[in-house]
Amino acid sequence: MSERVLLVVDMLNDFIRKDGALYCGEGAEKIVPFVAGKVQEFVSQGLPVIFIIDAHDPQDLEFKRFPPHCIYGSEGSDVIRELKSLVEEYSFAIRVPKSRYSGFFRTNLNEVLRDLKPKTVEVVGVCTHICVLYTVEELCNRDYEVIVHREGVASYDQEAHRWAIRQMTEVLGARVC
Ligand SMILES: [Zn+2]
Repeated sequence: MSERVLLVVDMLNDFIRKDGALYCGEGAEKIVPFVAGKVQEFVSQGLPVIFIIDAHDPQDLEFKRFPPHCIYGSEGSDVIRELKSLVEEYSFAIRVPKSRYSGFFRTNLNEVLRDLKPKTVEVVGVCTHICVLYTVEELCNRDYEVIVHREGVASYDQEAHRWAIRQMTEVLGARVC
């Protein structure tokens, strides 16, 4: 059992690097120091850090909606080095590959969290209105207390970012702080 768990959503080369296949913009780059600080905080306290990792088959049908990105096993699908370097020797870093927006769809995240039994799940990552939102929705369905760190989430679309923050607080009952 662990009081707090950190969920780091899609902080991957293809989304965060300027030359990434589906770069999420400067806003996404700007959250890196905050997210790194959070990861460091959890590591220093021996708390679990779960990396949700977009990882697609090259033929994935999601590529009808978005350009190909985060191909399974590629560098694009790897966690950015600023965060990876913090957990290289950390045994409580858990990687959950996914191929849809929600971190729960066809993954073992449900079981991972059921084992950890956290009181609070803290969420950072990209994009606020896509993978963050749909993962937070499922966390709220499962009655976890969810904290979304405002400084730790971003999107390429500012309007959608603001809408998603409202949706998560007013509709889903997550705490944004
Ligand atoms: Zn994807």
